[in-house]
Formats: sequence, structure tokens, C-alpha cells
Amino acid sequence: MKNFRQIIVLLAVSIKLAAQPQTANYQYKIDLINIRADKILVTFTPPQNNLKEGKYIIPRMVPGYYDAMDFGQYISDFKAVDDKGRPIEVKKLDVNTWMVADLKNAAEISYLVSDGWEHLTQQTGGAKSPASMFKKDSLFIINYNSLVGYFDEITTAGYDITVKKNPEFYPSSALKYIPKNDTIDVTSAKDYRNLVDSPVFYCVPDTTWLRVGNTNVLVSFYSGKHKSFSKNLAAKLETILTNQQAYLGGKLPVNEYAFLIYHEEIPRGLMGDGLEHSNSTVCLYASQTLDELPNALKGLASHEFFHILTPLNIHSEEILEFNFLDPVLSKHLWLYEGMTEYATIHMPVKQRMTTLVEFTKVIEGKIRGMEPFDNTLSMTEMSTTAIKRQDQYLNFYQKGALIGLCLDIRLRELSKGKIGTQDLMQKLMKKFGPEKAFNDEDLFDEITAMTFPEIRQFFKYYIEQGEPLPLKESLQKAGLDFDQTLKVITVIDKPSKSQLSLRKAWVNQ
Ligand SMILES: [Zn+2]
Repeated sequence: MKNFRQIIVLLAVSIKLAAQPQTANYQYKIDLINIRADKILVTFTPPQNNLKEGKYIIPRMVPGYYDAMDFGQYISDFKAVDDKGRPIEVKKLDVNTWMVADLKNAAEISYLVSDGWEHLTQQTGGAKSPASMFKKDSLFIINYNSLVGYFDEITTAGYDITVKKNPEFYPSSALKYIPKNDTIDVTSAKDYRNLVDSPVFYCVPDTTWLRVGNTNVLVSFYSGKHKSFSKNLAAKLETILTNQQAYLGGKLPVNEYAFLIYHEEIPRGLMGDGLEHSNSTVCLYASQTLDELPNALKGLASHEFFHILTPLNIHSEEILEFNFLDPVLSKHLWLYEGMTEYATIHMPVKQRMTTLVEFTKVIEGKIRGMEPFDNTLSMTEMSTTAIKRQDQYLNFYQKGALIGLCLDIRLRELSKGKIGTQDLMQKLMKKFGPEKAFNDEDLFDEITAMTFPEIRQFFKYYIEQGEPLPLKESLQKAGLDFDQTLKVITVIDKPSKSQLSLRKAWVNQ
């Protein structure tokens, strides 16, 4: 908090109105050069309209992150003027919404945005991958949900964005940015969802391109101290992606993908968080040195990339028609987060990147990981109430992954080894896809129809109700013994023929 009053006076003088032609798109200008006390000036012209008033919304929530973040709290000095520069009345309704009177005559709307990078973590327990960061001389991490909004009355319009930037900075994003000159880039998105789905890093680039199958992959890295590390990370990612490709049946489901990776130094430990998007992911790491980073990528980047299956390609209507202010949450976080985490831990053993014994250690970790949570809760109910149940939310990565494991083994058992969760996800992706949602209520019946009648009971007991997971029984079928008291898994010395063949189908070992 610096001298706030002075900033506003300066701003009022410095806004120059250019007569903008009215168009069907939102026309935004974002100024990354003239930063005012860590705040960015955003100005825009709304799409042509005949509205008496309009409710402007900055997201309270974003897809993929299951807690309220109220990005409106970082917006200040919101104002609107007509084409003669005369003020138009604006009323702040609540933390994330503003009512603009006489919207049809609003020629320019402007506000200041502070990044909330440090502040947001107090609210989210450390997670900041959906947030933005402005470091004038080094890096801008832009998640458009913190800078750009939409009118409730104009939700289908496209976005044209003009970014004014330092000539040495270049954008890394899944969206195409076209340079107009060395300080101006333009980009566009087909709608608000598409814009928010495409974060960007602006900095002196450290980038490496990869080609995995038919997919072009951009690896963009930023760290305050180390200037060229993207190559090392790209080498690691190439191994992961090549194996993910094989795990997904030989083809990655996207043609282009960008990893936007940020690292900061902390005295000890390793922290990371990430947020998945259709064609990119933001991965944030903090550690003492970069040494741990390539290995840490294995878990986080792999998890975020596997989200390409779900929720990005397999999702319910609640996610397809996401409401940024007051979303109705789907019942199926067990699928979106649980199955994604299961694929992340299962892929390395299935692809023989790790041994069966190492895999059992990972499973033990998940079993211990779910202990602090209330495992009698219904996973579907927890999913729809995730915002209120932040104390239980992280269990989707622990118990959720173990549900995936038990489901995988059950499917292998019922199909005599022929199908597992890998095949199930492919089937679901074929039936649904990015533009075709499933009905939240019907998913369990859909999967049952695609697989075996017995699977309906599995969903009923272990996901809809909170019955204890059949871990011992499931692992036993694959020739593994689970000591429930010691929480230790051992490989059975002389497994039966059926145990061996199920294990072979399940983990290829
Ligand atoms: Zn996830």
C-alpha cells in the first residue's frame, strides 16, 4: 500500500481517449510498461450494444480450482466514460461485480489491477497457479481471470487484446500473439472461457520446443537467477510425454501444448502447484536449488497434462457452461482429480519407468495420505460441496487416486485383463469430448453400460456412499499383500496364475 490518492490523480490526467470504433468483440488494452505502484491499467471498449446498463463480472472462481478466490478484490479505480470523455455512472455491487449505467454509450471502461500474488496464497493455503504476478522488470504471469472480465448481458462475444510490453519481453502461451511492433502485441480469443483458458508469461524468454508424435510442445521457463534451464526441463518432459503418449494409446489428444514453468527460491523444501488448461498448464515451483526440479516435474507436469483427458475432454454440463461467479459444482471430482492423479502414478509403472516395488511405495503413500481425512464421506457429495469442504478437498488426490486403482483392478478382473481405466477413459473421450458434456446424474450409468453391470455397485459403495475401499481385496487379486495394520504392501512370493495374469494386465510387470 503506497500513496494511493496520488496514483488516482495521476491516472485521471494520463488517460487519453482514442475514438474507438464499436465492434462485436470486447477490445482490451493492457499496459505492462506504465505500472503504477504495482498496478496494471486495463482499458476496454465493450462490444456494440443497446443496453441501458450492464453488470461487469470479474471471476469469483475459475475452472479447475475448487475454491472461491474473488479476483474482483484486486480491482480498483473502476470507471467508465462516453465518447466525449464524460463520466458514466458506475456502481460497485459486491467484490466481483460492477453495474455500468448507460452501457450502450460507454466508449471506454478502465480500472487498475494489482496482482494479488502474495495475498491470494493466504486465502488458498499456498496455491497461486490461477493468479497473476507483475514484476515490472522481469516477469508477468497473466491469468486473464485477474485482468479481464465480461458483462453478464454479453457473454458470447470474442476478445481482442492489445498488450503494451517491454521490447525485450516475449509472450509464451497457447494463444497466438502477433507483434505489431517491438512494444505492441495483439491476440484474440473466441470467448471469455477461451481467454481464461490461455494464460501467458511475458518475460525475456527461456524456451525450448519439442515434438512428441504429432504434438508441438513449448517449454517456457522463468527463474529469477537461472537464465537457460528450459532445455533440461524439456528433456525430462520429452520422456514423460513420450510415455504418456504410449499410455494413451499412441496419440496425444492435442496438436499444440505449452508448459509455462516458474521457479522461485526458498530456503528449504519443495513446493509446487499447477493449473490445467486445454492447451497449456502453469506449473509453479519453489525450492532451494533447481536440482530437484526435473524430478518434481514428473509428478506435477504429468498430472496437469493428464487433465487433457478429464475434465478437459470428459466433463459434465456444469463444467462446459462454467459460471465464473457462482458455479454449480459437478459430482465427479473423483473423476477429474482422482482419475487424473491415478493415471499420473500408474503411467510410470505401466510404462516400466519404475518398478512394481517402487509403485507399491507410491500406493502406500496415498494410503497414509488419506488417513487424516474423513473417509466415510460420500465422494459425490464432497464434490458438489467442495468449496465448503476445503478441509476434505485434498483427499481427492489421495483416496481419489486409490478409487482409480481399485476401479482399474476391478475392470481388469471383470474383463479377464482386457480393459482397465486407460481403455475406459478412451471410451469416454470418444463418446463425449471438449464440446459434448455428460449429464452429471447419468455418468455412473453411462460407464456401467460401457463396461460391466457390476461396476454400478462399485460406484454406489465406494463413491456415492463412503464404504471403506476394498484395498486389501483388490491388491490381493494382483498378487500383492496389504498389511492393514502396518500399512505395508508386499509382493506375494508365489502368486497364483490368475494373480500373475491380472498383475501383468494391470501394471505390465
Ligand atoms: Zn488436477
